[in-house]
Amino acid sequence: MLTQRQLFLRHLAQTSDAPLGIEAVRAEGSCIWDASGRRYIDLISGIGVSNVGHRHPEVCKSIHEQVDRYMHLMVYGEYIQYPQVQLAMRLTQRLPPFLNQVYLTNSGTEAIEGALKLAKKYTGRGGLVSFRNAYHGSTHGALSIMGHDRYRQPFAPLIPGNRVIPYNHSDSLGYIDTHTAAVVVESVQGEAGYQTPCTAWFQALRARCTEVGALLICDEIQSGIGRTGDWFGFSKHHVVPDVVTLAKGLGGGLPIGAFVANEHHMSCLKEDPALGHITTFGGNPVCAAAACAVLDALEAEKLPARAAQLEPEIRKRLEHPSVLRITGRGFMLGVDLGSNARCRAVIADCLQNGVITDWFLFNEQSLRIAPPLNIPEELLFEACSIIRGCIMRNTQGV
Ligand code: PMP
Repeated sequence: MLTQRQLFLRHLAQTSDAPLGIEAVRAEGSCIWDASGRRYIDLISGIGVSNVGHRHPEVCKSIHEQVDRYMHLMVYGEYIQYPQVQLAMRLTQRLPPFLNQVYLTNSGTEAIEGALKLAKKYTGRGGLVSFRNAYHGSTHGALSIMGHDRYRQPFAPLIPGNRVIPYNHSDSLGYIDTHTAAVVVESVQGEAGYQTPCTAWFQALRARCTEVGALLICDEIQSGIGRTGDWFGFSKHHVVPDVVTLAKGLGGGLPIGAFVANEHHMSCLKEDPALGHITTFGGNPVCAAAACAVLDALEAEKLPARAAQLEPEIRKRLEHPSVLRITGRGFMLGVDLGSNARCRAVIADCLQNGVITDWFLFNEQSLRIAPPLNIPEELLFEACSIIRGCIMRNTQGV
């Protein structure tokens, strides 16, 4: 009889040449258990998803209660479904007042697609600007604005009219002009090794978009929902984007995303043609109920602030001569080990020692650390000490 691992390799489409391959049977809080009963401390949260940990009790309760009321009823935007209304209210309450309407999607890339269509329709322009090493998703629109050619080229032709400019560089803002419908930016670059921009640049970017009438879309899909130590990564820079995209951590483990904008902008999706941007499952009521509980838990347990508070502890505990620098903010940290060989060796050793870390798509020498925001201190510190040990063992002479 074939093992689950063999069946996984045979029947599930493979996208990675080296899957982590944990045979997961259970997850709780900040830990995952495999089929042999082995416990792993999850320091990547399914890539920024389990911000409130795995199976948060309030999230599970909210899901169960909603399943007992109703699941899918109708395509998005037709029926009044309380979980969707409650979620939109909660989100807009936590965002700047300008961002007052929410369109719910199933995923991050769909939030990006919706935001791009909104910008093109609202401005009547076709130009899109994004940044080097940006990641916004894998569908055609999102892929068209990806900031890395290696991943784009094999799928050409993509959507024309996109320009990729350097991140955190004022010189290139001149490329944003009156042909630009939207500029899409991450407040922390999620696949570039958690790179952060300076506030002056972020503000100059906002000003340039306003000057030429382009919409500023801030992709908070990985950096939002408390991960950076703020509710949303852009708030640190005291700017208000025209559109914010969310997903990942929003559903607490269920698939849901959103793009949020001002009703004046959003209203262009309602007519000419009506139903020009629709989704069957976007904002699924069970997922929306889960998301409401996530936002409530984040607030009740003050989790964004906790990530900000514990960030220096992680930095301190990972200090080592082989660590060139630690990038990122809050619980979104990249540990630069200076080479891909070192990075791969450390990730593998961590896994052997029961700690899940990961690499970045566009930065081969950094290790990704993105724990659940409510990870108990003892577990976090235990994981840090294991990682440090692995760094020590695997960086001498490599
Ligand atoms: N934007 C960013 C910043 C992301 O990190 C991701 C997912 N890694 C996406 C967009 C796409 O989200 P999804 O995988 O849910 O489509």
